Amino acid sequence: MDAATHPIDMQHWTPNAHAEPSVRVGVILEADGRASVEFVLPDKPYTLTADNGKTQPVMPGAEVCIQVSGDGLIASWSGGTFGPSERLRIEPDDRVPAAPGAGVRVLDVVAGRGFHWQKCADQTLAGSLEFHAAPGGVVMVNELPLEDYLAGVITAEMSSACPVEFLKAQCVVARSWLLAMAEPKHQAEPFDRCNDDCCQRYQGTGDMSQPAVDAVGGSRGLVLLDPAAQVLDANYSKSCGGISELPEAVWGEPKPGLREVIDAPPGDPVGRFMPVTEDNLDAFLEGDWLTETKAYCSTHVVPVEAIGKYLGRVDEVDDYFRWSVAYTREKLETLLRDKLPEAAGLEELRDVRVTRRGVSGRAIEVELTWLDRSGQPVAHLLDSEYRIREVLHRGFLYSSAFAVRLQRGSAGEIESVTLRGAGWGHGAGLCQIGALGMALCGHDAAEICLHYYPDAHLETAYP
Ligand SMILES: [Zn+2]
Ligand SMILES: [Zn+2]
Repeated sequence: MDAATHPIDMQHWTPNAHAEPSVRVGVILEADGRASVEFVLPDKPYTLTADNGKTQPVMPGAEVCIQVSGDGLIASWSGGTFGPSERLRIEPDDRVPAAPGAGVRVLDVVAGRGFHWQKCADQTLAGSLEFHAAPGGVVMVNELPLEDYLAGVITAEMSSACPVEFLKAQCVVARSWLLAMAEPKHQAEPFDRCNDDCCQRYQGTGDMSQPAVDAVGGSRGLVLLDPAAQVLDANYSKSCGGISELPEAVWGEPKPGLREVIDAPPGDPVGRFMPVTEDNLDAFLEGDWLTETKAYCSTHVVPVEAIGKYLGRVDEVDDYFRWSVAYTREKLETLLRDKLPEAAGLEELRDVRVTRRGVSGRAIEVELTWLDRSGQPVAHLLDSEYRIREVLHRGFLYSSAFAVRLQRGSAGEIESVTLRGAGWGHGAGLCQIGALGMALCGHDAAEICLHYYPDAHLETAYP
C-alpha cells in the first residue's frame, strides 16, 4: 500500500510504523442534533463517494447541502444531487495542505460545547469530510494528516503571539498525547477525537496562524517517549502553581514518565515546599518567598497583563498563580444544594475540611459536614480533584490546590468560606504558563519538554 495516499490511521499507529498517521476528528456530533449540514468548497475540485463505491465530481466553489433522507444522506448542490447513502465522503482531488484559510468552509459549527461561551461559527477544514447518518442527526468527521490537525490544535490552544519555542514544545506534547491514544472517549463513534475540550480544542484552518503552522513544521514527527520507549501520555494543564502534581493524585494511578516537578530554576525558594502539606500550605500560598521566586509560572516570569496576549482567545484572564474565591455561608450552601444531590436536605453547613492532598497541594479529598433539616449531622466526601473543583464553584474551580479559611461567628457558626488557591487545572505534566515562562527566559523546546517530563526522551517518530 502506498503510504502517501493511504496513511495509517490512529488506531493502528505505533512508533514502529515510522509514518505519519491520519486523524479522524468529530466536528459535528450526534449530540448537536443536525438534520442537515451546509458547506462551501474552495476553488478546487472535490469528489463525493458513497458507501457503494460510486463517485461524483463536484465543481470548485459549489455550495453543498447534506441532508438526512430516510435512513441515508443526500448531497445536493446547484446542478446536482448524489445519494442516498448511509455515509458520504467528500475529498479534494489534490491534497489541500493545512495553511491559513485552506479547505472547505462548513457553516454553523458548534464550538465550546456545553461551556458558557458555546457559540456557532463557520469552520474551514483541510482534508476530507465524512458524513454519517446517525439516529440523532448528521455526524461530520474531518479526516486529515496528523501534522495538519496539530496546526489547528495549536492555533486553538494558544495565541500566535507566543514565543516559537513554546509553540514547538506545545506541539511535541500535543502530538505525544494524541499518539499515545490513552484516553479514547469516543470508541462507539466513527472518529478518534472530538473538536472540543473533551478531547482537544480544534477549529480548523479559518483562524490558523502562520506561527502555529511553522511551529508544527519545525517539530514535525517529534514525540516524547517514556522509559519503556512507548509514546508518553503527555498530560498538561494551564498552571501548576509552582510544583506539578503526580498522576496518582489526579487519576488514581501512576503513568510512566510522569512525576512531580519543581517548576522553577534550581535553587528557587519554591523547592522548599516540595511536597506541599497542611503544615507548609499557608506559606506556600502567601509567604514572603513569593516576592523573590522565579517559578516559571509565577507572575514574575509571566506577568498577569501578558497572560491575555498569550492564552487562547476563549479563556478568561486572571492571576492563575495565586487566587482566591470567597463565599458567604448561604451562597456556598445554595451551591452545594444545586451541585450535590446528597445535599438536597442541607440545612446548615458546619465544616469544610481537606482530608488528603497531593504533592502540589492539590486537595484530592474534601470532607463536607452539614446539619440536615432534622438537625442530624451529615458528612460527605468529595473524593477527587475533579469532583472538588466541580462542586465548589458555580462553573469550575481553577484548581484544588487551596487552603480553606472559615470565618466563624460567636456561636461557632460559619459566616464565610474563602478558598485561597494556587494554579489552574489538574497540574500534572507540562505547565502551559510555566512552559511559556521558560520560553520567555530563553529555553528551547527540548529543554522545556524535558523539564516537565524529566524521565522521557525526544525522538522523531516519522520523517
Ligand atoms: Zn471528545
Ligand atoms: Zn507551573
